[in-house]
Parts: sequence; C-alpha cells; structure tokens
Amino acid sequence: MSQIYGSILEAIGNTPMVRLNNVTKGSKHQFFAKVEYFNPGGSIKDRVAVAMIEEAEKRGQLKPGGTIVEATSGNTGVGLALAAAVKGYKCIFVMPEKMSDEKRAILRAYGAKVVITPMVMPEDPMSHYSVSKKIADETPGAFLVNQFHNPDNPERHYRTTGPEIWKQMDGKVDMIVGGAGTGGTLSGIARYMKEMNPQVKAICTDPIGSILYDLFYHKKIVDPPGSYKVEGVGEDMLPDNVHLDIYDGFVRVSDPEAFAMTRRLVAEEGLLVGPSSALALVGAMKAAEQLEKPSNIVVIFPDSGRAYLSKAFNDKWMSENEFLTDADVKNAFNRVVSAEEALADLKKQ
Ligand code: PMP
Repeated sequence: MSQIYGSILEAIGNTPMVRLNNVTKGSKHQFFAKVEYFNPGGSIKDRVAVAMIEEAEKRGQLKPGGTIVEATSGNTGVGLALAAAVKGYKCIFVMPEKMSDEKRAILRAYGAKVVITPMVMPEDPMSHYSVSKKIADETPGAFLVNQFHNPDNPERHYRTTGPEIWKQMDGKVDMIVGGAGTGGTLSGIARYMKEMNPQVKAICTDPIGSILYDLFYHKKIVDPPGSYKVEGVGEDMLPDNVHLDIYDGFVRVSDPEAFAMTRRLVAEEGLLVGPSSALALVGAMKAAEQLEKPSNIVVIFPDSGRAYLSKAFNDKWMSENEFLTDADVKNAFNRVVSAEEALADLKKQ
C-alpha cells in the first residue's frame, strides 16, 4: 500500500504519547504527554481547524473562493491557514496584541491578513471577538469560524484525539488533564474517555486570572479576570465549548510555575513545548496529589516552544517578568558566547 498523503492535511493527528521520566520524578504516579506539536501546523489546533472548515463546506457556509475569518490566538489561525492554502481560501485573523511576534509572523507567512486588537473586555467593540464578527459580517463570502462556540471543535477531539489516547494507553487511563481556551480539546476528549470508562477523571488546568475556575466551583466570578502571560488557555468569558458539566475538577497554576516548568521540560525531557503544556503538567501534578492509588495520568501538550522563542526561551523577557533572576541568567550554561570567551573560559578551568 502506498504511504503517500494526498495533501498535508492528511498528516494531521496520530501524534505520539510520550512517558515523562525526569520532571515528575518522586511521584508514585505515571505521567504521559500527548505531544501535539507533531501536527503539521505545529499545534493541536490543526485538528479542529480542518474539521470546522470541512463541516462548513458540507453545510454550504463556505464556498469556493470564500474568506475564512476568525478570532485566534495564533494556533487555530495556523491550522485554518494551512487548510485554506490547500483548499484555496483567503484568511483574515484577528488577534489580541499580547500574542507573540512569532505567531503574527507565521500567519503572514501562510498568506493571511492579521488584525491586532487591544486587550479589552469581550463586549468592547475593539475586542478580538467584536472586530472579527464585524469583518465577517461585512466581507462578501466570509465564514466566521467561531471556534469558541462551534460544536465541530469538540466533536473532532471526540472523534480523533480521544480514541488515539485510548488506543495508545491500551485503555489504562485514570486521569486526563489539559487547559481550556475554547474548551474544545478537553470537552471532546473527556466525553470520549468517560464513554469508554466512566471512572476516568477529567481535570482542567486554569491560569490564575482566568474566570473558568470560579465558574466551576462557585457558579459565578469571585476573582475578577486578571492578566497572565501563558497564551492560549484560560478565559474572561464562558465559551459554549467549555463543558463544565463533564469536568471533574479545576486546578489553578501561576505564571511563574508554568514558565519554570516550560524550561524544565526541554532541559530534562527534550520536549520543546509552549507554556500551556507546562501549565497543564504542573496542574496535573497538583491534581495527582489527591489520588490515593498509583495512577496513569495523560496530559495534553498543545503546541511547540518554537512559537515562544522571544518569550519563554528569551532570558531578557523571562527576567523582566521575574520568571528568572539575574543570577539565573548570568550563571546559565546555555549562553551564546564568542569564541574568545569560550577559549578564555577553558584557561580558567
Ligand atoms: N494551548 C494553546 C497554546 C492554545 O493555542 C490553545 C487554543 N486556544 C489551547 C492550549 C487550548 O485548547 P482549546 O481551545 O481546545 O481549549
């Protein structure tokens, strides 16, 4: 049988499950990472981007030559742009200004127009939600993807990511852990897992500053939404795709915890992932403390650290944000030095 993909879109999914060996040392539990940066666009969002386009085509909402419009923090945009390139659509993406330069650059590289919005509340007419809606309303042939509320998003995880995890783990999963941005990932995977085994627990990891934790435990916002540096997870509103009723618990994680773990994952496991992956792992380790018997815990790692070279992997940015101290930066082994300095260091040894 030929092993050729019909297009790059067929290379989406079937990502590896990798055992974590070092960063979780000392725990009686086993932790496994579903490493989603293996998708061709570099993140888990390739899966749902293609799903939402294909379903819109079937319903006649997106026609040949049409324009795809979306409010996206970057990763969904890459997946949509990838599909748009293969299928011949134009893309306009609207993203909040806090998102990294790499994310803007990559969307442009795929040929998309990128619209940057200020950090304001969702109901504000300048928010990325409001601006994307206006652009879609007023652009002929436009399809607003609406990933936060579009049911094709969790459905694709229910149909692909969930079954892949079940098969890779041979059904031996006790807890599944991930963050929620749109909620599609965790909602879809949790629904599948619980159908296979109702005992599987689904835990959502939330950055401090997101309102989802309060909505789950208190049914209302107790702490007002705050700012945080981890990208792609946490919310200042409740998306329809966050299915709070099927989650078993929430764990809060701070920026310093997430950024420290981002550095450790590459240094100790060889996994160059983004801060939302690290945040999910820190949350998983906290949630695991509540489990009495040794358990198998699957953590979703949504994207690659390559999108954060100017942030999580930039010492200046990390120390400006107090995630690294000056001493950490000065004493780091992984510095770029001139040949003269390297040779002078040899003499000091
Ligand atoms: N991590 C990153 C880096 C993301 O871009 C996203 C998507 N916003 C998520 C996690 C969360 O995925 P979901 O939208 O399926 O909840």
